[in-house]
Amino acid sequence: MKKQGILTVISGFSGAGKGTVVRRLMEKYPEDYCLSVSATTRAPRENEIPGVHYLYVTKEEFEQMIEEHQLLEYAQYVDNYYGTPKKFVVEHLNKGIHVILEIEMQGALKIKKRYPEALLIFLTPPDAKTLEERLRNRGTEDEATIVKRLKRAGEEAVYMNDYDYIVLNEEGRIDECVDQLHRIICDQQYRVENSSEFIQGMADGLKVFIS
Ligand code: 5GP
Repeated sequence: MKKQGILTVISGFSGAGKGTVVRRLMEKYPEDYCLSVSATTRAPRENEIPGVHYLYVTKEEFEQMIEEHQLLEYAQYVDNYYGTPKKFVVEHLNKGIHVILEIEMQGALKIKKRYPEALLIFLTPPDAKTLEERLRNRGTEDEATIVKRLKRAGEEAVYMNDYDYIVLNEEGRIDECVDQLHRIICDQQYRVENSSEFIQGMADGLKVFIS
């Protein structure tokens, strides 16, 4: 049964550990998944590589991508634009590869509206205190940005209701978290709404028996 890949959105509060979990998922199941590389107007962090972590573009270049309908979705997040290039996603889903979008909530909800069959997963630490600690211990943002990101997390909490699954990323249990994600995504492939081609083929094949 040839299947389309599952368009999977993984969101989570800043500091939830999305990057680490997604990286581990790719390492563990390299043939099943690929990660969409977003475009952003944010400056690269010290350890980030252009084209691997993000496509770093100017505001003008980003606005041109919007105008030319090159983005599946885009959103503004704490002073910068972020968006998902469309071509890569469509090509890989058609090859049967699951495409992961690691994006924030506004973008996730736009994706669900446009592609109701997309799977929305929200990754979170077990409680607010752990979230704050992780964000501070990461050491990649200054205090003002950390405060902005925590504020944003507080505003976003209510939108967890719009996701299909909430997955906990608990300290020291990353493999459990990755395996749980993998199971959820694989199961999705067998949902009836993702099997219309198979159902049609079966129904066509059985038509001869209906008198
Ligand atoms: P960061 O600056 O920490 O890399 O990302 C900030 C937020 O933007 C994160 O929540 C991240 O998931 C989100 N993000 C990254 N790429 C995209 C994208 O293409 N679209 C949207 N809507 N959000 C994105």
